[in-house]
Amino acid sequence: MQQARHLLKTVFGHDSFRPGQEEIVASVLAGEDVLAIMPTGGGKSLCYQLPALCKEGVTLVVSPLVALMNDQVAQLRQSGVEAGALTSNNDAAENERVFSALDNDSLKLLYMAPERIATSPGLLNRLKINMLAVDEAHCVSQWGHDFRPDYLEIGRLREALGGVQIAAFTATADEETRSEIISKLFAAEPRQFLRGFDRPNLFLAFEPKNNPKRQISEFVAARAEQSGIIYCSSRRKTEDMAEHLRGRGVNALAYHAGMDAAQRHINQARFSQEDAVVMAATIAFGMGVDKPDVRFVVHADLPKTMESYYQEIGRAGRDGLPADTLCLYGVEDIKLRRRQIDEGEAPEARKRADHQRFNALLTLAEAALCRRQTLLGYFDEIALPCGHCDLCKNPRQLFDASEAAQKALSAMLRTGQIYGLEHLVSVLVGEETSRITEQRHNLLPTFGVGTEFDKSQWRSIFRQLYAAGYANVTIAQGSWQVCEKARPVLRGEMKLDLRFPEKQAERKRSSARTAPIELSDAGDQELLKALKTCRTDFAQSQNVPAYVIFPDRTLIEMAQSRPGTMAGLMQINGVGAKKLERYGNAFLRVISNH
Ligand code: ADP
Ligand code: ZN
Repeated sequence: MQQARHLLKTVFGHDSFRPGQEEIVASVLAGEDVLAIMPTGGGKSLCYQLPALCKEGVTLVVSPLVALMNDQVAQLRQSGVEAGALTSNNDAAENERVFSALDNDSLKLLYMAPERIATSPGLLNRLKINMLAVDEAHCVSQWGHDFRPDYLEIGRLREALGGVQIAAFTATADEETRSEIISKLFAAEPRQFLRGFDRPNLFLAFEPKNNPKRQISEFVAARAEQSGIIYCSSRRKTEDMAEHLRGRGVNALAYHAGMDAAQRHINQARFSQEDAVVMAATIAFGMGVDKPDVRFVVHADLPKTMESYYQEIGRAGRDGLPADTLCLYGVEDIKLRRRQIDEGEAPEARKRADHQRFNALLTLAEAALCRRQTLLGYFDEIALPCGHCDLCKNPRQLFDASEAAQKALSAMLRTGQIYGLEHLVSVLVGEETSRITEQRHNLLPTFGVGTEFDKSQWRSIFRQLYAAGYANVTIAQGSWQVCEKARPVLRGEMKLDLRFPEKQAERKRSSARTAPIELSDAGDQELLKALKTCRTDFAQSQNVPAYVIFPDRTLIEMAQSRPGTMAGLMQINGVGAKKLERYGNAFLRVISNH
């Protein structure tokens, strides 16, 4: 363990372990089988990379994506660690480098995609494999959306290698997935580590949709020069969104599974290599994102479940610096997601579970108190109000909505349960649209009974009734109907509390808050810029992502503390011995010239 602590600084440049890392590293070094569940950005890679350096032989790392493997290998090599990947992308020279490192026993980490395992039994039997490290272990779960059949090979490989040690890592932690991972990968119950789910550096916010393109372009405009992801629910929307943002001068790209593979690859590479690219993407843009300095994640549409929301926002701020999230939602999204579940292929029990997972997300969207409390509560964690979400910043009250609900529900009933949201809201506020006079709805007793709220407040009340299962919306026509559950409310037998809806005019432009990371003085800013330029030069000449040279965090620290010597530079988090030797002089020069 002492050796591990030493290598943590000299190789990886870190002063200390992140929470959870030390126990896991110790357990892996002790030879135990380990399943570690850590939130994205928790620093999983280090938990097997560090032990790999301390052990004799080579650690085989199974990882699902070629791009991910290549970035990891590039990072390790930058730190002076002999690592390699065997992938279909390798050219002859790369293969040569990997095999000769294997031959002379200098290779410490060998990355492989799972499909490669089945086809390389000869090679794998010949190697001195000291441990299998499984990244993104939830890919072995048949129920998950990341299921990779080839992950099932890992269990077979473990046996073929005579029950070699195995350490598996994932950020997905529901019970079901966890027990599936254990049964598919391990021979016996592994030692488990479950690290808290909280990502305190993420700001959490939700907003009802209200001209979403405008909402998003304002959000992005307030975060110029930052990298971010905008998740959209369809392929076409990603293209629209990227184009819309480009029209406003944002360096925006699209990414979805329907794109030409070469173009997709280029866009992904640009996102990871350039500064300040905004990616409008479907969830196909997922596991491949290990860029640590993604500063925001926006959901242009509601995600599928609470788990997917958590996983997707988790791609922001992996470097631990402040990052922003925003999730937009509207009734259309709710309909879409419910329909997708109902029309899916999954067995009934699964569909019921998916509805519950989605409903949990709706509860989060319509929550009145701290978002983080609600989110962590879903994962069985108890938390205090966080002070770092839109609701803590700007608390909403609950109100007794029994009367408002009665009005809304009777507007549905009196109009025959065949009308859409806008018509019903117009009835309530007493707006004489041509359709209302045509249908003589202005003569109904419910007409104009709801003037205590404006239209956007009524929309929120309807949404909340829908989210809580008091009303339903038909798929074909979008007609609002009263559910059984609402009868006691209508009869005045049940009190109903809802979140007090904000008036349109009062709705603060909360999403347009300014960028979180700021260096206090302008001199620091300029120096940071110069350091970034220096980093870009190195990154481009070696064709690796900028963060592989140094992450933002390290450059920010340099700009603040302005070391003048190699020893001073070595004190900075993220500067290890190898990088110091390679880049130290160049960065010191930038600092002293400033
Ligand atoms: P995960 O795979 O859990 O999402 P990574 O292993 O990619 O996370 O690590 C996320 C980021 O945190 C990386 O940029 C990594 O360099 C950094 N990191 C990991 N461990 C430490 C540490 N002990 N101190 C500082 N930074 C760390
Ligand atoms: Zn909060």
